[in-house]
Amino acid sequence: MLRETLEILRCPYCGGRLELVESMHHRASGDRIDEGILGCHCCIFPVVSGIPVLHLQPAAVEARGHMEQGRPELALRVMAGVSDPAQAEIFERTAASADSTYRELVEALGPNFEGGYFLYRFSDPTFIVADAVVRAVGRAVLAGRRRALDVCGGSGHLTRSLVGLSSPPPVLADLFFPKMWLAQRFTVPGCEAVCCDGNAPLPFARGVFGLAMCSDAFQYIWTKRQFIDEMARVVDPQAGAVLISHTHNQLAWSPSHGQPLSPAGYRDLFETIEPRIFGEAGLFEDVVSGRPLDLTRRDAPETLDHDPALTIVAATPGAAGEVWKAHEIEAPGTPRSGDAPRGRWRINPLYRASPHAGGVRLELAFPTPDYEDEYGACRRYLPEEAAIDQPALAALEAGTLTPPLAALARQRVVLELPERYY
Ligand SMILES: [Zn+2]
Repeated sequence: MLRETLEILRCPYCGGRLELVESMHHRASGDRIDEGILGCHCCIFPVVSGIPVLHLQPAAVEARGHMEQGRPELALRVMAGVSDPAQAEIFERTAASADSTYRELVEALGPNFEGGYFLYRFSDPTFIVADAVVRAVGRAVLAGRRRALDVCGGSGHLTRSLVGLSSPPPVLADLFFPKMWLAQRFTVPGCEAVCCDGNAPLPFARGVFGLAMCSDAFQYIWTKRQFIDEMARVVDPQAGAVLISHTHNQLAWSPSHGQPLSPAGYRDLFETIEPRIFGEAGLFEDVVSGRPLDLTRRDAPETLDHDPALTIVAATPGAAGEVWKAHEIEAPGTPRSGDAPRGRWRINPLYRASPHAGGVRLELAFPTPDYEDEYGACRRYLPEEAAIDQPALAALEAGTLTPPLAALARQRVVLELPERYY
């Protein structure tokens, strides 16, 4: 973590500022703190592998004990969930190699780690809608001079969408330490990661973010009222926005349902900023048809009641004019400006490739029937079959998006993925 990040961190319990305890074990140099103990008015918290761990769940307390004793490697094992010595050895060996991929580290984290369908994340229908909304709202409120916060951001797949819009770089917050550890290494290098509990007050100062977002996780937060109060507290009260994307709907069943509320229930959570609630189906249609993402729409109550997934946007008065607009969506493959992350163009892993006339023939193949059930709407943009000829294949390898490849990028048959993703 950067030392200057201490300026925006606060203890989730006493609200006090956090400082590095210089008298205890630490490893810090210049502007960075890699290991150590942070103290506030009420407690002390460890910094493990550059990530402050600002909660008191059992693993955090155990890791803090190791750090106090000057055993950072054991603190990392505890937080990574690899306390079993054999698994720890595999993890540490894989982590030590600069060539290891995201996929290899997911495997090295062992059976306790929930990797899910991470490999397919960048083209799943939930992601492409959330990515479009995050970029639209992020561009509207961050303007390259405010910072974004992604709470329950996991391995940072959407935090990556904020790089280049958020300045300073975005903050990724999650309870699950190994996901953020992966995010810092692969998905969002340069983000600041903070390990914290979404069911507790957020460990950030008031008003320091332009955008606070949470995607595909709010239905699992039990303390929903506190969570929304906290999201509203940490954004700029004049020109900030809160975004909850892909939260499930109590009135419409969905896989991995969680404890969702109805649209009316979600609306009642917002006491200080007025929210607008959108059905995800309408936003999805905007994205797949290449229309602007229309945030001027007012979905009818019956539309919201029937949609299994909802997106909630709340904009403060100073941000409203920029947020409630139709936003042009950058097609995938459009050259990005500024310091947006440059990944590596690769064939979407949902395709089975076979050699064909010097190039490859591609066939859409879902990893499991469950995946197809949950994410089958990707058929709206992923063709059943495609082909890449030899010159295009060579261009792809060289990282050059020729016109035929740009057409495949628009269909998401080729994707810009983080370096060493799989
Ligand atoms: Zn405290």
